[in-house]
Amino acid sequence: MTGRLVIIGGGQAGFALAAKLRALKDARPITIIGSEDVIPYQRPPLSKKYLLGEMDFERLTFRPESWFAEHEVELLLSTYVEEIDRKAKTVRMQDGAVLEYETLALATGSTPRTLPASVGGDLDGVFTVRDKRDADLLAGEMKPGRRLLIIGGGYIGLEAAAVARHLGLEVTLIEMADRILQRVAAKETADVMRAIHDSHGVVIREKTGLHKLIGENGRVRAAELSDGSTIEVDFVIVGIGVKPNDELAQQCGLEVGNGVIVDEFACTSDPSIFAMGDCAMLPWRGNRIRLESVQNAVDQAEAAAAVLAGGTAPYDAKPWFWSDQYDVKLQIAGFNLGYDETLTRKGAREGSLSIWYFREGRFIAVDAINDAKAYVSGKKLLDSGIEPDRTILADPAADLKQLLA
Ligand SMILES: Cc1cc2nc3c(=O)[nH]c(=O)nc-3n(C[C@H](O)[C@H](O)[C@H](O)COP(=O)(O)OP(=O)(O)OC[C@H]3O[C@@H](n4cnc5c(N)ncnc54)[C@H](O)[C@@H]3O)c2cc1C
Repeated sequence: MTGRLVIIGGGQAGFALAAKLRALKDARPITIIGSEDVIPYQRPPLSKKYLLGEMDFERLTFRPESWFAEHEVELLLSTYVEEIDRKAKTVRMQDGAVLEYETLALATGSTPRTLPASVGGDLDGVFTVRDKRDADLLAGEMKPGRRLLIIGGGYIGLEAAAVARHLGLEVTLIEMADRILQRVAAKETADVMRAIHDSHGVVIREKTGLHKLIGENGRVRAAELSDGSTIEVDFVIVGIGVKPNDELAQQCGLEVGNGVIVDEFACTSDPSIFAMGDCAMLPWRGNRIRLESVQNAVDQAEAAAAVLAGGTAPYDAKPWFWSDQYDVKLQIAGFNLGYDETLTRKGAREGSLSIWYFREGRFIAVDAINDAKAYVSGKKLLDSGIEPDRTILADPAADLKQLLA
């Protein structure tokens, strides 16, 4: 048995690291320090079924509370790590307590970007969605007939819009860029998702930013938009992206870029400190990237666990992602970074569609909209390195299985 592993952050990656080590029969002492007051749970439903009220918290947790004691994983909840001392190999918590580590893992996740107080970001009724507490507060606002303004047309904003319409709210979504999903998806995908939201009565205003939120008695009441118009609102969701929680890494002098810089073994510039999940910046196909997804949090943490348990395999990220909006399931395989061409394929079912991304002629990612076959085929192609035959892709009647034959 080796010395203590301290994991800072009890989210998707932190839990996956501890669970994988135990699955590998690694018996070292493990302590997870988490700032939230609840046991580790998955976040995706917070902007989907949990917000809709269709999923209990018990179904969000990765394991029941008893799992931690049974597997000798110490869990310190409501505990925030304030400082890392790399020389002494200790972490200091906000109550002054100090804990020694032999190995440290940063699994601190990311934090939603907020609006500054100068534009009304500090008013009551202005929300972000990151944790259970946020979702619970938000759920209390989601009452039929209320007017919701969503700032930002990314996945979180669009998912919240879908939930709100389902619950009978009036929803306006503003997006400063030319179109929704600008940062993450092609125009073709954005066009489909916009049309779906239009048909559900969401008012989407692209190329429209926020000038200022107006408050009354400390609570948001209206929004002045960049086009000069003013709309009345009851509450606001800000979905303008996240920033990595890399302050601790900066404080203790680790190499940091857009997140904690790690190598292909999830190791930071200090060989006894690992970082994984949303907070880490990893090498990928000659680039350094940060991935904000369940896939990356789990796979990177599990790869790190294998290394800690004596393995030598590097982590080779195989990104995938999903988003649920109304009865639409968007599944993404691959990472469309730097794409220069897309191909749209109509699926066999009414409303199913896939958008295939290429860079310099090579297939790199697919967005599958209600089209599980396209998603599965795309994922298999990426895993195997086989280039899809474009004549098959372009023919809606062709069976995608032929792509892998
Ligand atoms: C609303 C929502 C919907 C999402 N939907 C999807 C989806 O559909 N598909 C998908 O693939 N991904 C989705 N994601 C992203 C996915 O949940 C994240 O990528 C994933 O949770 C990252 O895991 P993580 O462990 O890095 O961070 P987290 O799960 O955020 O965990 C980090 C934890 O560390 C704690 N922490 C931070 N600093 C400290 C400190 N100093 N001391 C102690 N504790 C600390 C935080 O409080 C938090 O509990 C969604 C995220 C959100 C918020």
